[in-house]
Amino acid sequence: MSERSGEFARQVRAYLEYQLSQGVRKIVLPSPTGPARAAGGLEAIRDELGDCTRCPLSATRRTIVFGEGDPHARLMFVGEGPGADEDREGRPFVGKAGRLLTRMINAMGLERSEVYIANVVKCRPPMNRNPEPHEIAACNPFLEAQIAAVSPEVIVALGRIAAMALLGTKDPIMKLRGMFHDRNGIPVMPTYHPSFLLRNEEDRKWKAEAWSDLKKVMARLGLHVPATGNGS
Ligand code: SF4
Repeated sequence: MSERSGEFARQVRAYLEYQLSQGVRKIVLPSPTGPARAAGGLEAIRDELGDCTRCPLSATRRTIVFGEGDPHARLMFVGEGPGADEDREGRPFVGKAGRLLTRMINAMGLERSEVYIANVVKCRPPMNRNPEPHEIAACNPFLEAQIAAVSPEVIVALGRIAAMALLGTKDPIMKLRGMFHDRNGIPVMPTYHPSFLLRNEEDRKWKAEAWSDLKKVMARLGLHVPATGNGS
């Protein structure tokens, strides 16, 4: 079994064990690539998510943060999960890290409204802890469905958790970043999470590396790649 399929199997097992512990005996998973989904698009996926209680994060969240942006975006960003600001507003990446992400998108020559932004989990983990594998597994069908509906040409994975969820690897982000990884035919560029860049602002190396990653994405999309600048 490959590392990726092994990780997926572990996540599914954790998810099923959690559901069993909650007394659930029948699970109906969404079908991300089914005809109804393709026809209904993002709205149908949001409807299916409903007032979701599929994992324990539902108990502490204020708002489900589904995702936003161009439903036919060429570029999709996937982060880890909502923080306090996002939980309050119901929109992804609206806090300080979100403002940095917006500046990074603008530096690429794009508006926020031209890309699609989502998270691995759609409810805020308490105390901003990392989402647990069974929480990621529970939310994953909806992320898969969003990716299928948007059908982006490139995905940027923001941080280790997003890279892990999208690529099924536990490799550190520093090893993954800087190159495209194939994910069912869609190239994924892992890079640093904006929160990490903010926490390490004093060392410009990290921002320079993130900007280098984004420039590769721009080249892949045929966008103008400036010779200078740091992306923020
Ligand atoms: S994180 Fe995802 S699976 Fe868990 S309750 Fe929220 S929407 Fe449902």
